Amino acid sequence: MIANIEKSATQIAKEVRSGDVSAAEIIEDTLAHVDSIDGTVGAYLTVLADVARAQAVRVDERVRNGERLPLAGVPLAVKDNMCLEGTRTTCGSKILERWIAPYTATAVARMLDAGAVAIGKANCDEFAMGSSCENSALGVTRNPYDLARVPGGSSGGSAAAVAAYEAAIGLGSDTGGSIREPGAFCNLIGFKPTYGRVSRYGLIAFASSLDQIGPLTRTVQDAALAYDAMAGFDVMDATSIDRPVEPTAGALRDDLRGLKIGIVREFDTKALGDDLDAIYSRAYRDLERLGAELIEVSLPTADYGVATYYLIAPAECSSNLARFDGVRYGLRVEADDVQTMYERTRAAGFGPEVKRRILIGTYALSSGYYDAYYVRAQKARTLIARDFERAFAQCDLIACPATSCAAFEFGAKSDPYSMYLMDYYTIPMALAGLPALSVPCGWCTPAGGSAPMPVGLQLCGPLFAEKLLLGAAHAYERATDHARSRKPMLESARA
Ligand code: GLN
Repeated sequence: MIANIEKSATQIAKEVRSGDVSAAEIIEDTLAHVDSIDGTVGAYLTVLADVARAQAVRVDERVRNGERLPLAGVPLAVKDNMCLEGTRTTCGSKILERWIAPYTATAVARMLDAGAVAIGKANCDEFAMGSSCENSALGVTRNPYDLARVPGGSSGGSAAAVAAYEAAIGLGSDTGGSIREPGAFCNLIGFKPTYGRVSRYGLIAFASSLDQIGPLTRTVQDAALAYDAMAGFDVMDATSIDRPVEPTAGALRDDLRGLKIGIVREFDTKALGDDLDAIYSRAYRDLERLGAELIEVSLPTADYGVATYYLIAPAECSSNLARFDGVRYGLRVEADDVQTMYERTRAAGFGPEVKRRILIGTYALSSGYYDAYYVRAQKARTLIARDFERAFAQCDLIACPATSCAAFEFGAKSDPYSMYLMDYYTIPMALAGLPALSVPCGWCTPAGGSAPMPVGLQLCGPLFAEKLLLGAAHAYERATDHARSRKPMLESARA
């Protein structure tokens, strides 16, 4: 029999609804497991044991009262840039280390309404800036498949929690790849919906025109379940889209017949080395075997994605993070005058990567440079979105790598630029606002004799094509089953 902690969200919800197991038992088992391994994995910054127990009791009551909860008793990891009323919400930053959220983010509230139980707040790169979780000022998170390697980022804590069975669903936020990359690094589905599909209310803003909440899960079915619970209009978020959401969890497909899948000419996988080239070539063949017709598409401006993103995202962050000045939120370092108080607070509260982004963003927005940098980047963003529009006139979905390498060792990307390049394949979709996900597609053996590490295939669809995207990912997952062929290093994590 499969242990409670290893069950999928879909299975847990079904069993809790039918009374085969109680939410209280699921949550007790999860908390015991977190207690035994999280000292090593480091997925959580705050474990909400008492809150979770109380929520589980409430879920069991609601089930007894006949409520049909789609996520009954499902253990949830919440990235620590999302507010949960009455709990510490840090963004992985010293500036918010002791800040208590006064309300709950809409996405989190919807998950809890659907019966999920928040186990804890998961570590992340400071203010979601990073690709490895190494920019967190508050803790180290390890990859459950090799503890010497990063879990990816910025939603690395949510990904590690789900990979190590410390939660069944993790909530992440993706601005340029922060759900899809840790998903790929931790053998998970990492799903970023269309921009505006899931409310950003209560998600502490990094780059508001890009930020999007989505799930990290061990199966596509679970990602669909989470998406169905969270997606939809919210009056509290002016960028949330008022358009009906098609439910996805009951509409997943088992083949790809009739679909045209675009393979991007500019993303030549040979450049990624033999190992990855073989994995992606096989993945594309598998898509074909499942009935898809593969066609070549072109994204000529995708190559400008990284440069474009690293102007727009810092520009928006420099404005969003201005609110952390010691007056209202979080840390204050006292001084005799207000200007010195601001300076000392921000100098002490922000880490080096956040400061770098604020500087770059402020520079790009300053008069004299605004047209040369910010406006140019906005134009490039439009061109990238148009490339995708043209491609989607020819195909239904695009398939490409999620990342250019598997999870790397701590400290391996020490200069900012090599870290920025980690998002080469995920940034273009973010700039265009498109829904995209990463699904496990194989295992590679990195140099240095480490354990085999997971590799992710990225699928991307046109705006609002979530149902098609999840359906196709499900067909691929079902036919290949790469994710379940290996287990994380839990035994050594326990030691
Ligand atoms: N790694 C990218 C960055 O550092 C993307 C982060 C994200 O998606 N939040 O900005």
